[in-house]
Amino acid sequence: MAQRPKARCDVVVIGAGYSGLYALHKLRDRMGLDVIGLEAAADVGGTWYWNRYPGARCDIESIHYSYSFDEQLQLDWSWSERYSAQPEILAYLNHVADRFDLRRNYRFGTRVTSMEWDDDAGRWRVDTDDGDEIAARFVVAGTGNVSIPKEPEFAGLESFAGPMYATHAWPHSEPDLTGQRVGIIGTGASGIQAIPKLAERAGHLTVFQRTPNFATPLRNRPSDPEEVAATKANYSAVRAAARNSFLGVPYARAEHSALEVTPEHRRQTYDRGWRTGGFAILVESYTDLLVDEQANDTVAEYTRERIRERVTDPAVAELLCPDDHAFGTKRLPMETGYYETFNRDNVTLVDVKPNPIEAVTPTGLRLTDGTEYELDVLVLATGFDAFTGALTRMGIVGRDGQKLNDVWAAGPVSYLGLMTNGFPNLFTITGPGAAVALYNNPLAIEDHVDLATTVLQHMLDNGHETIEPDAQAQAAWREELNQRAHATLFPRANSWYMGANIPGKPRVVMMYVGAAAEYRATCADVVDDDYRGFDFNRAAPSRTPPCSSRG
Ligand SMILES: Cc1cc2nc3c(=O)[nH]c(=O)nc-3n(C[C@H](O)[C@H](O)[C@H](O)COP(=O)(O)OP(=O)(O)OC[C@H]3O[C@@H](n4cnc5c(N)ncnc54)[C@H](O)[C@@H]3O)c2cc1C
Repeated sequence: MAQRPKARCDVVVIGAGYSGLYALHKLRDRMGLDVIGLEAAADVGGTWYWNRYPGARCDIESIHYSYSFDEQLQLDWSWSERYSAQPEILAYLNHVADRFDLRRNYRFGTRVTSMEWDDDAGRWRVDTDDGDEIAARFVVAGTGNVSIPKEPEFAGLESFAGPMYATHAWPHSEPDLTGQRVGIIGTGASGIQAIPKLAERAGHLTVFQRTPNFATPLRNRPSDPEEVAATKANYSAVRAAARNSFLGVPYARAEHSALEVTPEHRRQTYDRGWRTGGFAILVESYTDLLVDEQANDTVAEYTRERIRERVTDPAVAELLCPDDHAFGTKRLPMETGYYETFNRDNVTLVDVKPNPIEAVTPTGLRLTDGTEYELDVLVLATGFDAFTGALTRMGIVGRDGQKLNDVWAAGPVSYLGLMTNGFPNLFTITGPGAAVALYNNPLAIEDHVDLATTVLQHMLDNGHETIEPDAQAQAAWREELNQRAHATLFPRANSWYMGANIPGKPRVVMMYVGAAAEYRATCADVVDDDYRGFDFNRAAPSRTPPCSSRG
């Protein structure tokens, strides 16, 4: 393969999802920097480019699950549904790319395979799978928290003779499942969205479930023009309210403990949350659902009752009732007709917890007790190597030859989720340790990009060459993450929030557990306190030429 000439730039931005697109726009258009974008996919969209499975849609309302950085953009764009489906979100991100002319700086179909910090030059050397080699003073990794799938753990997977589809990389032309015997493995958020749609299309659908999840109704509907007009008339206040709410959506604030009210009060409150849909039941009901087991039991049991009402066969209903984790401590999936799907004649639920999948065979699946399932099509909805998956697959080598994978061997460490000691000038947007999993992502992403660019502008203004967090600040941040999480029920669940879905992955708190507003206040305080916890110019290289532009 012919080598492309080495390129130089101020900043390499990796990823063209919500993070990368906004970062590229901000760095290039508002700060005047020379930016190269690298994206493994053939086009923009990130999550919404890859996850095209039937039923894929956001479960944060679209008027919130969208960018706020440009007033005219949010006034011009209208969402057709309360929770938009994947094609519409992808169309939106394409619109953003066109509107701000972002594609011209991207190299698509280009995966970063290694990145090494050169201390003498004060630059990252970024290598890609098509032979590019780019020297960049800064790298902004917008590589996503759920962008790398979990490696399937089933023997014989490659032997399956029929088509096999993964929800995270669904084919661009919809497969025809008419009359087919389809099997799906996985009942997390993606599986719960896909299963009702697959059941409508397949001849027969067999759902292989290891762990049932609590799911609440989405209550999607077409957008209400009056609501949209009211939001647009007042969008900046809506965004401010969202940013100051837990989850980054302006849900009403819960006021009472679930244990200080009567069972009737709880019933009415949970009924209201159930009717409202989305995260309302978790966020609006009571203050202690995520911190007190007894309080949580009340909403968990309420949900199990709703499942039992909706599923006709009591034995199937019991299999769908979670009993191994507290409500909301795994990523809460949202459903549309999920439970009724199991009342269909063409759907079978198979519990593979007591009788695990032993192997995929050329004609289907075999369980440990020897039971065989004949399948024409296999669908994998087995989740992601969340938070760290993308970053640990990029061959990142920092100062003094330290590998990120070694530094993170016992679990990721970072300061504010933004930077890691020993890896200068590398910003990880919504990286491990950031406020993201419990925060409406486009707003979390904008906040994090804004934090990174504030830091970067400070460096440019002051002639600093390098930045990285000091080890002490990083250790204190890890302590804060642990303390916050261990004051809640989250660490008890075997969830991807804890790295517990991947065999061998260290089981640590991967995210900031707290309200977005608290996290933002902490970040603002760090900035105001002269970038407390960051080291500038540690062993600053002497030969670094100045940045091409200081916007
Ligand atoms: C099905 C689904 C539904 C979701 N719904 C919601 C929701 O309702 N609300 C919410 O807040 N969040 C939701 N999320 C989370 C979602 O990932 C974020 O909302 C958001 O899209 C993340 O944007 P991002 O740009 O940070 O990452 P991504 O969109 O994941 O983009 C990262 C990009 O980086 C690229 N990349 C990774 N590694 C490399 C490399 N080495 N070289 C080059 N390119 C690379 C990837 O190809 C990808 O395109 C959902 C996720 C999924 C999977």
